[in-house]
Amino acid sequence: MTRTLWLRTLAATCLTGWACLSGATPPAHAAGASAAGNPFLTASTLPFQAPRFDLIHDGDYRPAFEQGMAQQLAEIRAIADNPAPPTFDNTIVAMERSGRVLDRVSETFDGVYQANTDPALDAVQTAVSPELAQHQDAIYLDPALFARVRTLYEARAGLHLTGEQMQLLTVYYQQFIHAGAQLSDPDKAALRQLNTRLSQLETDFQQTLLAATKQGALVVPHAAALAGLDPAALQQAALSGHERGLAGQWVLPLQNTTQQPDLSALTDRDTRQALFTRSWTRAERGDTGDTRAAIAELAQLRARKAALLGYPDYASYVLYDQMARTPQAVQHFIAQLVPATLAEQKREVADIAAAISQDGQHFQPRPWDWAHYAEQVRKARYDLDAAQVRPYFELDRVLRDGVFFAANRLYGISFKERRDIPVYNPDVRVFEVTDRDGSPLALVYFDYFKRDNKNGGAWMSNFVGQSHLLGTKPVIYNVANFAKPAPGQPALISFEDVTTMFHEFGHALHGMFADQVYPTLSGTAVARDFVEFPSQFNEHWALDPIVFAHYARHYQTGAAMPQALVDKIKKAARFDQGYALGELIAAAKLDMDWHMLPARAPRQDVDRFEAASLARSGLDTRDVPPRYRSSYFLHIWSNGYAAGYYAYLWTEMLDDAAYSWFRAHGGLTRANGQRFRDMILSRGHTMDYGPMFRAFYGRDPDIVPMLRHRGLVPGEE
Ligand SMILES: [Zn+2]
Repeated sequence: MTRTLWLRTLAATCLTGWACLSGATPPAHAAGASAAGNPFLTASTLPFQAPRFDLIHDGDYRPAFEQGMAQQLAEIRAIADNPAPPTFDNTIVAMERSGRVLDRVSETFDGVYQANTDPALDAVQTAVSPELAQHQDAIYLDPALFARVRTLYEARAGLHLTGEQMQLLTVYYQQFIHAGAQLSDPDKAALRQLNTRLSQLETDFQQTLLAATKQGALVVPHAAALAGLDPAALQQAALSGHERGLAGQWVLPLQNTTQQPDLSALTDRDTRQALFTRSWTRAERGDTGDTRAAIAELAQLRARKAALLGYPDYASYVLYDQMARTPQAVQHFIAQLVPATLAEQKREVADIAAAISQDGQHFQPRPWDWAHYAEQVRKARYDLDAAQVRPYFELDRVLRDGVFFAANRLYGISFKERRDIPVYNPDVRVFEVTDRDGSPLALVYFDYFKRDNKNGGAWMSNFVGQSHLLGTKPVIYNVANFAKPAPGQPALISFEDVTTMFHEFGHALHGMFADQVYPTLSGTAVARDFVEFPSQFNEHWALDPIVFAHYARHYQTGAAMPQALVDKIKKAARFDQGYALGELIAAAKLDMDWHMLPARAPRQDVDRFEAASLARSGLDTRDVPPRYRSSYFLHIWSNGYAAGYYAYLWTEMLDDAAYSWFRAHGGLTRANGQRFRDMILSRGHTMDYGPMFRAFYGRDPDIVPMLRHRGLVPGEE
């Protein structure tokens, strides 16, 4: 069975912008092609079965998807209708082996579609995604197939299974149950109806919000109101006006979040308030862009769906296979973060108020003032000029002497560029990774530079997943959106970009050290509240003194970065964390509250519900509103993060705790790296996450290292 099928929404794990938010794709006509000679129909003969980008054409994808789905359905039919009694091998292993063509085409397509799309690929995506959803339903709601899985699950104690096999059987059984396989026929019909309505509402929400966000842009008739913006931003605002047929006016388009980037530069308070208000009310204007009716219905129907499947609320339904497991565990975690965050928010409000007085102004700080005055405090305290640090971060050097160097020190692996492996775009570079004993381990592609046909943000996934059963080794890619230098010029990047490289490579390590028999449990095929743990953990090495000194060298002179500059980078990373953490906690809490509505709850008044949730948060939500308001919280209403937004904070707890373990045990050593590889990075989903983490850390994770890392409690992290 394909990993992509199970985890389609998780397949690409990402960093920037706090989610893999990909926009809807315009429909277009699919190019037809015959299946003959289709490069997806047979395994690639390249090293590591790397995709045949030298042979693949856009027209090959659609027929390969069709053939791949048909082939897998036939395989599944044969398993379900097998007259022999079910065995682990003829049922579970047979499902694991099924869908090879679909797996190959999905994994390659996903990678290229996200990073290098064109109208033909957009059309394939539009056509294929509903077909894949139906394909999945056809498997999970098949009564004969489920009967075999259930028989095995009930007899599991006597099957003499290995630990990994027992886990696989359990995961299959739970996924069938979760999809509704055990329901009566009328309940299955009700579930299908609910699913259809939910998916309509999710699509409606996304499209309405997209239009409302565009509509919500602030139009400014006089340039004077935009004082403080730099010339490039001003020019961009004029261009946005021109593009919207408002020549001679300036337009500030809205970003996804509550806070808007321009708020930090704008000096005119009325403009700031107007921009903030446009953001805050973008989808609450009582017009066609209002999302509140859709939200109220979504929350209600999700609660009903959970009840149909035997859960008290939707959060319980979603969390069953996550590390946190229950809504109560999530609530407890969030509540623990509140006191230190609130105390820091109070200190920050005082700083902001002082900066306002220093500016000769007399008003209480409001959310639209925050970024502007925080920026003044930041400049006064640790003036960090981005232009000063870039010459020390040359991309190739960061990759080889930073990212690869740290991985070599910790895990003993080495890297060699492979210029003979075909790529989908000339910017892509390929490296072969060799294990400590010289054996081949993985292939990794790096696609770092921004392109117009690439999604925003950064992410990692696999072209080929690791599996001993299938005899495959990992083929992995890291994608980002760094500015491309002029031809012949070095790529000088920001420290944020450096962190992104370490982050995505942390996902890559999780994929390349995978050591599983079964593809469903392999590598990064883990829960949402676990998958960002290895990646965020790897970010810590960017500032490790040994690693940093090795890669942060002036691209012309080779000189090390002056210590004063290093200190500024470290300190600036801990600035304004009461705000940063507070807006995340408030959003996570809002998400949990919406998804803990009981099944019989009436449809909610969105504004009243939200106000009550924020009031109960214990945080200063007047000065620090949630990062997303209910009415524009795309993650939870249509991007698969319902009752899941907390996962970003949860994995931060895990990575800071793990790093504190390293610090206490000698830091960057082979022995420590090996232990982390053995106990976490190589484990995939072969065991539950709680015991896996406890085995490494010695106890349950706690929030102290996380608060220390953010500078919210004293002490070295
Ligand atoms: Zn990530």
